[in-house]
Amino acid sequence: MTADATLGAPASSPASGAGEERTDVEGVAVPTGHLIGGRRVGAGAGFEVRSPIDWEWKLAEFPEAGAVEVDAAVDAARGAFPDWAALGPEGRAPYLLRLAAGVERRAAEIAQVETVDNGSLLEAMRERVIPRGGMNFRFFAEYAVSRLAEPSRILHGGERNTVRHDPAGVVAVSTPWNAPFMLATWRVGPALAAGNTVVLKPPEWAPLTCSLLGDLAEEAGLPPGVLNIVHGGPETGAMLTGHAGVDRIAFTGSPATARTVGAAAAAELTPVSFELGGKSPFLVFADADLEAAARTAAYQYDNSGQVCLAGTRLLVERSCLDAFMERFLAEVEAIRVGDPREAATTYGPLIHPRALSRVEAHVEKALAQGAALRFGGKSSGGLYFPPTLFTDVPSGADILREEVFGPVLTLQAFEDDDEAIALAESTDYGLATMIFTGDESRAGRLSRRISAGTIWVNCFYVRDLETPFGGTKHSGIGREGGRHSFDFYCDVKTVCERTAAFAAAGTGGGS
Ligand code: NAD
Repeated sequence: MTADATLGAPASSPASGAGEERTDVEGVAVPTGHLIGGRRVGAGAGFEVRSPIDWEWKLAEFPEAGAVEVDAAVDAARGAFPDWAALGPEGRAPYLLRLAAGVERRAAEIAQVETVDNGSLLEAMRERVIPRGGMNFRFFAEYAVSRLAEPSRILHGGERNTVRHDPAGVVAVSTPWNAPFMLATWRVGPALAAGNTVVLKPPEWAPLTCSLLGDLAEEAGLPPGVLNIVHGGPETGAMLTGHAGVDRIAFTGSPATARTVGAAAAAELTPVSFELGGKSPFLVFADADLEAAARTAAYQYDNSGQVCLAGTRLLVERSCLDAFMERFLAEVEAIRVGDPREAATTYGPLIHPRALSRVEAHVEKALAQGAALRFGGKSSGGLYFPPTLFTDVPSGADILREEVFGPVLTLQAFEDDDEAIALAESTDYGLATMIFTGDESRAGRLSRRISAGTIWVNCFYVRDLETPFGGTKHSGIGREGGRHSFDFYCDVKTVCERTAAFAAAGTGGGS
């Protein structure tokens, strides 16, 4: 769109100059320009952002970055890299801890903006999701200090082997709209802590809180160019992830887009970390705590089903089907769909009219392919869609395999462990699996046989940032979390030194 655009004039201070436009969202002044080399640039119209709470509510206009802005952002990141890398984990930690503190201090404001921008529940944003964004900086800043260096090892011949984790360079981050702030910080946090500089492309359907992240970075005193932000849609994303100056690509989104990103990455041989979609199975065995299973199953409608990890395929042991259904229906009955700012609301709207059309198309197709609609299935006005369940689904129906990314679940019964595993394994996805059972040995057996990045047994959504996160099959490539993040965001080097030679030359050892 703005491939030949000229960068806005340099601003003398963050509060003035071209690209310094802000939009007022719930009393918060959100910047609507790109952030490149510490300057807000690129004023002017590109794309509109509207609130899914009420689609008539226009929140902002953002410029769309073209080649000029993307080049400038990558150059700025490249320029800032040597000094940021040279600080080392201890030198970088104070900046990132200040950034974490800024997120924590402004969590309520960020939550308000996120809710209006993408329709997520205000309370969940304020209490859990935005604070987790702060943790993404705090945890990796501290982890880098304590864990980035690996112990060295003396080999039999007297050589010393040391494994170094040195920052890779410029990291391109592209993330989706269903949890924009949390998903961006989950990539930006470890990338910066490892000593890289970053160019972030926020999701065009909900870019506001990622744009605020630029303010938080400035407030934390991050040197210009360490974090750059370019706004835009798929074209901007493609320019960034296909850029020859990028050393790592962290992409979160759909498998379809990942194929495009992967092809561009292959041309430049740029390493990728892909966190993609899911169609996760939610298994309930007769020996489980059925109250907990039903409550957690109903929670799979959270965020209007726009959760990559959601267990959208309920697989229930036939002998407890009636008992489970009775409890599940009671839980669903209590769900309130509405304005996500209100305390009584369980979940809010779908993100965009195109998301609504996609969900409706999935429902239509499921009906056409012979699935029985147990409840829901039709928009309740605006972008609000009720909890929906399909039962008696023919085994070949697409609704059993395709990610809907809306509040639509299917229910299937199974007789035994083997059938449960076969059903669980019957998609191309492998992001998560939930197992509700009272039998620990069964949990162990199933965990070995089911392919998934995360298996939650008798729980859901519990995250420890030290453990790996990612997906198998079409749900992703690579793992992040703890040292796995640093394995990706760093060049991992083995340095093998014959130290006797240092002594002979009188220069001493050291690494
Ligand atoms: P999408 O793939 O359409 O878009 C994701 C982001 O990629 C957007 O910001 C988009 O502008 C950008 N993009 C588009 N083309 C690009 C390109 N060539 N290079 C770089 N960026 C590009 O996904 P979506 O529909 O917006 O998001 C929903 C999907 O994301 C679902 O499949 C969901 O399961 C998945 N998701 C996965 C995780 C996870 O952690 N595994 C988390 C959240 C969402």
